[in-house]
Amino acid sequence: MSDITSRAISALPVLEETAHQTYPSATLYVVATPIGNVTDISVRALHVLSLVDAVACEDTRNTAQLMTRFGLHRPLIAAHQHNEREVAETLIARLQAGERIALVSDAGTPAVSDPGARIVEAVRAAGLRVLPLPGASAAVTALSASGLVNDQFYFVGFLPAKAKQRENVLASLRTVTATMVFYEAPHRILDCATALAAVFEPEREVVFARELTKMFEEIHRCPLAAAAAWIRADAHREKGEFVVLLAGAPAHDGDNDAEAERILKILLTECPVKQAAALAAQITGRKKNALYDRALQLKQAD
Ligand code: SAM
Repeated sequence: MSDITSRAISALPVLEETAHQTYPSATLYVVATPIGNVTDISVRALHVLSLVDAVACEDTRNTAQLMTRFGLHRPLIAAHQHNEREVAETLIARLQAGERIALVSDAGTPAVSDPGARIVEAVRAAGLRVLPLPGASAAVTALSASGLVNDQFYFVGFLPAKAKQRENVLASLRTVTATMVFYEAPHRILDCATALAAVFEPEREVVFARELTKMFEEIHRCPLAAAAAWIRADAHREKGEFVVLLAGAPAHDGDNDAEAERILKILLTECPVKQAAALAAQITGRKKNALYDRALQLKQAD
C-alpha cells in the first residue's frame, strides 16, 4: 500500500462523520455517481445509497454493478427517459409514506443531459423534499482542466444529430461570449468538429476532453482549424466519451461599442425604440435589452 493510500485510510475515522449526519425521511436524494473512475464517489453518496429504501436508476444493470462494487444491496427501480412520468407517481406515493429514495443516472449528475428532471419536478411539486448529493459531472470536470479562462460557461449539451438543425443551433451561438460546453457521441465527434469549424472562426480555441477519469483520458486544446485533423490523426479518437469546449466570442471592444451606437442612432431616425433595438441587436449581435435601454436614453436626450 502506498504512503498516500495509507494516509488516506488513516483519515477514515473523520469520514465516519457522515454516519452521524441527518438523513431526513420522505426525501428524494439526487445522487451523482462516477463518470469513469469508480472511486470518484463521495462518502456521503455511499452512505445514502446504503440506507435508502430504494434506488431509482436509469439502467438497473449499470446501477447494480456500481452498488455491488461497494457491497451495497438496495432494491432498484427503473427510471429512464421513457417512464419518468409514471415512475414519478410511484416514487411520490412511496415518499409520502415516509420512505427515502435515491435517484441516480448511469454516470455523473442526474438531470444533466440525463433522465431525472421530470421526477425532481414532480416530487417538488408534491411538496416533498429533494436533497442533492453533488459529485462528478463531465461538463464541470472538463471545464476544470481545460485552461480556458472565462468566468462564464454556457452548457449546450448534445447538439441535434441532423446536420441542418445542428447548423442552426451553432449559428445561434456565434456571439456567445461564455465558454460553450457540448456533449458529443463518439461516432459524431468528427462531424461535430467539422460543423464547429464551418460556423466559428478558425482561430477559436476548442478543447476535446476525452474519456475523463478513465485510463485513456486525453485533454487536447487546439484552434478550430486544426480540430478535424487532430481527430483523424488517431483512430482511437473516434471512440470513447467526449466533452467539447469552445472558447466564447471575444468580448466587444470600444470600437464595436461605437459602431453599435452609430447603427442604433441611424435606426432611431426611422423606427420606434423597440424596433430599432431589435434590429440593432440582429445586426451587431449585442444584447437587445442593453440596446433598448441605450435607445431610450438617446431618444430622451433628443
Ligand atoms: N449526467 C452526466 C453528467 O453529469 O456529466 C452526463 C450524461 S450524458 C448522457 C453522457 C455524455 O456526457 C457523454 O456522451 C459525453 O459527452 C459526456 N461524458 C460522460 N462521461 C464522460 C467522460 N468520462 N469523459 C468525457 N465525456 C463524458
